[in-house]
Amino acid sequence: MLKVSGLKVAYGGIQAVKGIDFEVREGELVSLIGANGAGKTTTLKAITGLQPVAAGDIEFLGKSIKGQGAWDLARQGLVMIPEGRGTFTRMTIVENLQMGAYVRQDDEIEADIEKVFGIFPRLKERAHQLAGTMSGGEQQMLAMGRALMARPKVLLLDEPSMGLSPIMVDKIFEVVQTIHAQGTTMLLVEQNASRALALADRGYVLDSGEVSMTGPAQELLNDPKVRAAYLGE
Ligand code: ATP
Repeated sequence: MLKVSGLKVAYGGIQAVKGIDFEVREGELVSLIGANGAGKTTTLKAITGLQPVAAGDIEFLGKSIKGQGAWDLARQGLVMIPEGRGTFTRMTIVENLQMGAYVRQDDEIEADIEKVFGIFPRLKERAHQLAGTMSGGEQQMLAMGRALMARPKVLLLDEPSMGLSPIMVDKIFEVVQTIHAQGTTMLLVEQNASRALALADRGYVLDSGEVSMTGPAQELLNDPKVRAAYLGE
């Protein structure tokens, strides 16, 4: 569904992503792991048109999407949940969820809000609270709920566990698994390599802007090099 080939991204003279290839097939959950500064966020920004592509191509559903903006991509079903959540802080939970459906023109939006509330009962309890007054974990739930409101074909998640308490991290990964089990194809970018690989079908390790390893997630999880470099062993 999503295919990245020979992708290069630079900030001025600095090559942050140096010609990477990867793909996410229909129904898969693929994890992209790597240390700080490996180029994970830059890769997601390039896919979603937030950072120019210096070389290579990005295909979604068989067509190049290089250079397209977030709105066009969301309308086609490629939706990103950015690092730092990006909720509308002065809007309520319900208003944020409605905003997530801005790319749709059907009459099932209210029903989908109820579905999101089914996944995240906490959001239902707080439906009319301003998003900016929610905890970090609650805002991550809201960001995920808002993205689901766009009915994504592929969901890109940037470091959903960042800055959250262990209990909230458990909850967020549980929900990632639920969303995937319900049929959404996902690309999960995480520094928390063990959790991200435990959920994934396949994984890619990004190291200084290059893909250094790839394979079935379970194999990567058991690989001594991955365990030494990313799982603190
Ligand atoms: P982290 O997990 O810490 O977010 P990452 O793997 O997502 O790391 P990126 O944020 O993609 O890494 O950064 C890749 C490289 O590009 C780093 O060396 C970073 O310093 C550099 N970089 C990122 N954003 C910019 C920017 N706006 N201007 C200049 N350099 C940048």
